[in-house]
Amino acid sequence: MNPNDMRSLQLRGLGAWIVTLFLLVGIGSILPDWLINLFFVLAGLAIIAPVAGFFGLRWWLQRNLVQESCPVCSAPVSGLKTTNLQCQNCGEPLQFENGKIKRVTPPGTVDVDVVDVTAQVIED
Ligand SMILES: [Zn+2]
Repeated sequence: MNPNDMRSLQLRGLGAWIVTLFLLVGIGSILPDWLINLFFVLAGLAIIAPVAGFFGLRWWLQRNLVQESCPVCSAPVSGLKTTNLQCQNCGEPLQFENGKIKRVTPPGTVDVDVVDVTAQVIED
């Protein structure tokens, strides 16, 4: 059999859409209504679920993503509120606490800020 003969049987363009429409209408007239409704509900879910998932993920990320600067080296740090972070620049372990990113320190550690004092020469 010549493969070109089979190609002449293939439907193209508008003919393919018309045949598909007739097949869907024919199948729709045979199947019970509840099965057709189930198909449309599942098709609707297949369209709505990814969109709802996208916006749900955006909403969740806006609530849980923290973007601040490292308290040690001031490099930008981003991460989730519920996880322990580590600065990519200096390697300092960090955690989210009371709306701020803080260093993870052992209990009893006193964190001090360095104040630059200009030296004065006292002459007698
Ligand atoms: Zn850092």
